[in-house]
Amino acid sequence: MSTPIGNRLDISLRALEIFKTVDILLCEDTRKTKLLLDFYKIIPLPKLISYYEPVEEAKIPQIISWLNLDKKIGLVSNAGTPLISDPGFKLVRECVRAGVKVEAIPGASAVLTALIISGLPTDKFSFLGFLPKKEAKKIKLLSEIKYTSVMYESPFRLKKTLETLNQLRPKAQVVVARELTKKFEEIFRGTVKGILAKLENRHLKGEIVIVVAEKPLAANDFDVDNN
Ligand code: SAM
Repeated sequence: MSTPIGNRLDISLRALEIFKTVDILLCEDTRKTKLLLDFYKIIPLPKLISYYEPVEEAKIPQIISWLNLDKKIGLVSNAGTPLISDPGFKLVRECVRAGVKVEAIPGASAVLTALIISGLPTDKFSFLGFLPKKEAKKIKLLSEIKYTSVMYESPFRLKKTLETLNQLRPKAQVVVARELTKKFEEIFRGTVKGILAKLENRHLKGEIVIVVAEKPLAANDFDVDNN
């Protein structure tokens, strides 16, 4: 079940209904999910059980046995869509193997939110997830970009990644989206070089998505600054 990536109003009516009807809600962080459920005055509250990466596999047999007893179980992450750089894939895979019905409750996700406001071609795109921390792996991935590519990056590594990108694809059009749907949302568009210049005296915090065009578009598309 998708939950907001910032603005709490970005949740579906269906998700709000289902919060009230599930027996168990698997949460990446039960405290964060409880805040969301309280904000929406969800009554009755489902039983909240923590389900985060290190315990994922160990919890699957128990979850499948509850499902076989006809318990209704939802899965949420801290923000956005579960399974997208968040826990859940292994559980869904095991549910499919066990013949348990899996339904998606779609909604917000940073990958599509960044892509659609990027102004870069959307007809085909790749999602690279979190960029690797190791420079050699990052270089390999960034030099193989096909289509518009969307990636998650930590604010602490953003400048280094842009510098790497500048060496590999100096003319690529890039968009850096920060704190999407939140009060301090910021979008930087331009060449990597142009964005690095804009960020020279800034120490960006918060959550970041980078979108890179496959190839440069027309020269006058570069370095537009229309935040
Ligand atoms: N499952 C989430 C989704 O559907 O987008 C992604 C979870 S992943 C652990 C967290 C990363 O997603 C952040 O480090 C950032 O790269 C990106 N992200 C999440 N929310 C964001 C936001 N409001 N603005 C920009 N990036 C965001």
